[in-house]
Amino acid sequence: MGTIVFTGGTVLIDAAPGRGALTSTAIAFRDGRVAALGADAERSAAQDPDAEVVDLGGGTLAPAPGEGHAHPLLGGQEALGPAIRGASDLQGILDAVAAWKAAHPDAAWIVGGSYDATFAAGGLFDARWLDEVTGDTPTILRAWDYHTAWVNSAALAAAGITAETPDPPLGRIVRRPDGSPLGTLQEAAANDFLANIAPRFPLEQRIEALERATRSYAAQGTTWVQDAWVEPADIEVYLAAAAQDRLHTRVNLALRADPARWREQLAEFAEARRRVRKIGRDRLSANTVKFFVDGVIESRTAALIAPYADRPGEHGLPNWSPQELAAAAVTYETEGFQLHLHAIGDGANRLALDALEAAIRAGGPRERHHVIAHVALLDPADVPRFAELGVIANFEPYWAQCDAVMRELTIPHLGHPRDEWQYLIGSVHRSGATVSFGSDWPVTTLDWRPALATAIARRSHTDPGAEAWLPDERIDAAAAYAAYTRGIARQALAPDRGTLELGRTADAVWLSADPLGAAPDAIAEIEVFGTWLAGIETFRAQPAPRISTPSTASPHSKETS
Ligand SMILES: [Zn+2]
Repeated sequence: MGTIVFTGGTVLIDAAPGRGALTSTAIAFRDGRVAALGADAERSAAQDPDAEVVDLGGGTLAPAPGEGHAHPLLGGQEALGPAIRGASDLQGILDAVAAWKAAHPDAAWIVGGSYDATFAAGGLFDARWLDEVTGDTPTILRAWDYHTAWVNSAALAAAGITAETPDPPLGRIVRRPDGSPLGTLQEAAANDFLANIAPRFPLEQRIEALERATRSYAAQGTTWVQDAWVEPADIEVYLAAAAQDRLHTRVNLALRADPARWREQLAEFAEARRRVRKIGRDRLSANTVKFFVDGVIESRTAALIAPYADRPGEHGLPNWSPQELAAAAVTYETEGFQLHLHAIGDGANRLALDALEAAIRAGGPRERHHVIAHVALLDPADVPRFAELGVIANFEPYWAQCDAVMRELTIPHLGHPRDEWQYLIGSVHRSGATVSFGSDWPVTTLDWRPALATAIARRSHTDPGAEAWLPDERIDAAAAYAAYTRGIARQALAPDRGTLELGRTADAVWLSADPLGAAPDAIAEIEVFGTWLAGIETFRAQPAPRISTPSTASPHSKETS
């Protein structure tokens, strides 16, 4: 691999929170690593006639941001079904479904994602509304949270769900007053339906969807993605995509542990990990096991320590008993898996921390990289435990704003003071824990730029007049960018990534402006001009970029060679 030298702009070597950003004027990549900085890098451009020289045009080359929690296969597949994501109201969803059906008159099923659950009161959608546009074509649509589905009457009939059907363990069939199914399925009721009743898209279409998803990531500078929910059938898609060199980012797979059969799954997951290693493609790994500790607050399936404010006596729907979760954590850690636990409610976060503490006690002291993802509601008493246990807190910072879902579906379920225990990013960061960031795409946009702005401002970048929501939980731009780079490197088990120091892996993004120097409301407008993964270009903007205003260096940055 040849030499690439970047000059003519700012090189952000390390967001380095706490000691000021480290920058340089030039950088050289050779054999996939950072080979030189500053004047040394410029000299290597002069000495090597074959070196590719990239003029940054006043822009910034920064460590590439990673994606700590997402569902690229689900996100990519949204494009295969009706375009309901763009709908702005209930009628918009129905119109999109009708349009898709008209364009695919022979389709045996309509499978789509994902819709905004605030379009119906309480997130409760009626099968009959869909029937009007689908007729008797069975239809299943997933909600934005991907824990809920809306089905039509033909789909209910195909699955044999009637008034007599009991709720599945860990799931809920929402019912009318007479007990008949309404058309909204929560948690296991939705997941079992998708796994056992709805058809899958053909393999080649799924590979295409995955490839398209990784291209979208490459186009925004991302070089590593955590797929946080992998089912057995997904592994074939990944193996095929990797073998055909159709992954444009690295992807690490988190295989979902089933509370009912995690003991049998141990051998299956070890086999999946072995198959992934055997194909020997460096963009694919399967190091991780996923645990859904609970559901989501909006449908009152998140596990809370105290009851829901608007439903006395209800604590949510934890998927694991404390004993089983701790036993599974100990077992999978012993087999060398990284653990990735979805925890939304404060009860789920405490359960997750307790299980990881048990694993650590069983396995003795050593460096670990376990992750609790979302950390949406955290009892303040549990804040210090992330640092104490060495647990990575993976937040989706775009959620740390007071939007319609928060106002209408979340805060009323929590009440005060718990509404202020949400996304305690600042508190967890200040406690010394490793924070990593992600998007949970397609739950929310995969774009890290508006999410970075939200971590800094605690409000939407589209509403600069809004007050910061829980302003003590803001973090500065350096800490926020470090969560996408240094934090992700730790989560990705890749200590050689996360910064552009000498000798590190050459994972970099070429931006129109320095994300550490830009005003928060301007961060979403920063353009991505190129992406390099271990020195290999995975995205380049066409046509060549024009930077209209010279980028301003971060006021606290210091020069280094
Ligand atoms: Zn997720």
